[in-house]
Amino acid sequence: MSQWLPIDDIVEQVQAGKLRAVDLVEQALQTIEATAEFDAVIATTADRARQRAAEIDARVDRGETVGSLAGVPFIAKDNFLTFGSETTAASNILKGFEAPYQATAIERLEEAGAICVAKANLDAFAHGSSTENSDFMTTKNPHDPTKVPGGSSGGSAAAVVLDMAPFALGTDTGGSIRLPASFCGAVGYKPTYGLVSRSGVVAMASSTDVVGPLTRTVADSAIVLDVLAGVDPLDSTTIERDDDCYQVSTASLKGMRIGIIKEYMDESLSDEIRQPITAAIEKMRQAGAIIEEVSLPSLPLALACYYIICPAEVSSNLSRYDGQRYGFSDTEANDLFSSYAGSRSKGFGKEAKRRIMIGTYVLSSGYYDAYYKKAQTVRTKLIKEYEAAFKDFDLLVGPTAPTPAFAIGSHTADPLQMYLTDIMTVAANLAGIPAISIPAGSSDGLPVGLQLMAPQRADRTLLAAAAKTEEILR
Ligand code: GLN
Repeated sequence: MSQWLPIDDIVEQVQAGKLRAVDLVEQALQTIEATAEFDAVIATTADRARQRAAEIDARVDRGETVGSLAGVPFIAKDNFLTFGSETTAASNILKGFEAPYQATAIERLEEAGAICVAKANLDAFAHGSSTENSDFMTTKNPHDPTKVPGGSSGGSAAAVVLDMAPFALGTDTGGSIRLPASFCGAVGYKPTYGLVSRSGVVAMASSTDVVGPLTRTVADSAIVLDVLAGVDPLDSTTIERDDDCYQVSTASLKGMRIGIIKEYMDESLSDEIRQPITAAIEKMRQAGAIIEEVSLPSLPLALACYYIICPAEVSSNLSRYDGQRYGFSDTEANDLFSSYAGSRSKGFGKEAKRRIMIGTYVLSSGYYDAYYKKAQTVRTKLIKEYEAAFKDFDLLVGPTAPTPAFAIGSHTADPLQMYLTDIMTVAANLAGIPAISIPAGSSDGLPVGLQLMAPQRADRTLLAAAAKTEEILR
């Protein structure tokens, strides 16, 4: 049982003066302290949070309407620029960095009355699937501290499941919201690409980076999205939001055409995942959904494609960390070139360097056609296959991850094994479509996530169907 009410109830009570924002912030900060051994949080923003809470309470006392997230504490992944603490992206190269402005997502949440209380751990620069690539610490899975929480938004997912706050913000470039949601037993929602501004988020792969919430329920995710969604002049890739509210009521699954993704459910899928996922899909069928198998033949190529395109974009995005303008600077260097080299060699961790090297390689003349261009061609093919599938189906369904949470240290020696964790999440990023992971039972006490996907911009349909599925799986 969570100590937090559903978000809309919190807001109603804060607005009515029955709950005080200052108390909610203390409750969040106490829980953060009490669960410190899980290493989910890099820093709190306690001073600023207390001050903002007092302001919100004062507004309520004056009879003002605060907003649709009045007094709700939240935790942001540490790759969102925020005031009140450093923003590090869990990388040594950004240690000590104080953001000069806040991410649009944070600004919008604050405008609606939400209060950021802490910054969550992640794989440095969001490169990873376990938080073990964090330069600072590894977050532990709330269900079993010997297991990883998933990544890269592992701190955000663990924070929600450890009950630190009603919601957390994450980013999903290749699965980083959905995978930790699956491993920790939270709801993790990646909106359509462009629906939420990326301004003020430490860039990873700009053509797939998406901001989204981690919550306890689908309804809470929808409330958060409603605040975040829409065009931002600071991010030219943003798209118009729906005129209607994203806070959808639960939709019936009756008559909904749902495709089971064949490539994710083949004989290689372990029983520990197959069993709960098949059982969940069966319940959707009993609730009236029309369920059939669907094949997207290029899906098995998605992972290889992602691990070419993503490092290519990473190599470009990380070039801004040169030790001159902000972040770590090598003070032993005595000329400009050695300052660049020293700052980057000492400041970046292993995984960032690996991606810079792979990315630079696949973009280099002579290899561009063989790797980068080919990967983009496959990506286009994949997008077409999704479009074809969505002519026959309203939604697609499958597991979020090929396994439950794995043991800390078990994948760190072999980067390819780590990359394989993302085999079921990366395709939605390449296609820019919305996808959500919701808890669907467990295997040996570890949560298993069910993944639902919808066409681009069909976020409302996705959320409504996910809310219904959550209800029937309860
Ligand atoms: N695990 C994937 C990677 O390492 C995805 C990361 C993410 O979505 N930020 O690239």
